[in-house]
Amino acid sequence: MKKEKKVTAIVLAGGQGHRMQTAIPKQYLLLEGKPILYYSLMAFEKSQVDEIVLVTGEGEEEYCREEIVNRYGISKAAVIIKGGQERYHSVYAGLKACRDCETVLIHDGARPFLTEEMIERSIEGARKYQACILGMPVKDTIKISDGNGYVEATPERDRVWMVQTPQSFSYSLVYSAYQRLMEEGGQVTDDAMAVERFSGVYVRLLEGSYKNIKITTPEDLLAAEQLIKLYLGQKNCKS
Ligand code: C5P
Repeated sequence: MKKEKKVTAIVLAGGQGHRMQTAIPKQYLLLEGKPILYYSLMAFEKSQVDEIVLVTGEGEEEYCREEIVNRYGISKAAVIIKGGQERYHSVYAGLKACRDCETVLIHDGARPFLTEEMIERSIEGARKYQACILGMPVKDTIKISDGNGYVEATPERDRVWMVQTPQSFSYSLVYSAYQRLMEEGGQVTDDAMAVERFSGVYVRLLEGSYKNIKITTPEDLLAAEQLIKLYLGQKNCKS
């Protein structure tokens, strides 16, 4: 019998988070008593995603399995593996660990404010466009520096977006783009870049949310402590 093709979420938690200046990686810091990583795992657990591949730092696999996955009953997190040196190495490890996957959503575990709606939009977008990413138009004017402290250019503000995750793709498309990246070398700071560079497919921009922040620095953690109250309040109203 032919196996059904799946929607898989790769959740990235393999970073060390040096910019947070804490002893433990930022994805394990607590927000309203639960690790930051818990929130996006739970959002995927409750969604139509079939399987979660969790990518952690080396030696953190067991901690994640016991203290997050088992403790909070994330039953879809069937695969827990170690990541690599840079984010894109961790993504490639995650892609290699996907099983019978047709659509893949790649998400930063450091973005706890993921909603069911964002997940649904990402899956629909990946099916329709093959490649889609969530983002929002920037609020500030952006300058391109010349690398020496002077302004080289100013892109039109209404065409500049800051991008978020999930970044979602047809599995075969993003997997072959990453394979080419690994063979040919080079670095990417998001997954769309690999697809932009190594395929002819245009990446669709879809609206995410200004609340879908990535917790990177101590200021972000302060913002997250306020946002979590809003997020939990909305969820409690729904149920
Ligand atoms: O460091 P940055 O904020 O860009 O990380 C984005 C996400 O990628 C985080 O969730 C982080 O844990 C993850 N990451 C990873 N492997 C790395 C570096 C970052 O899984 N080597």
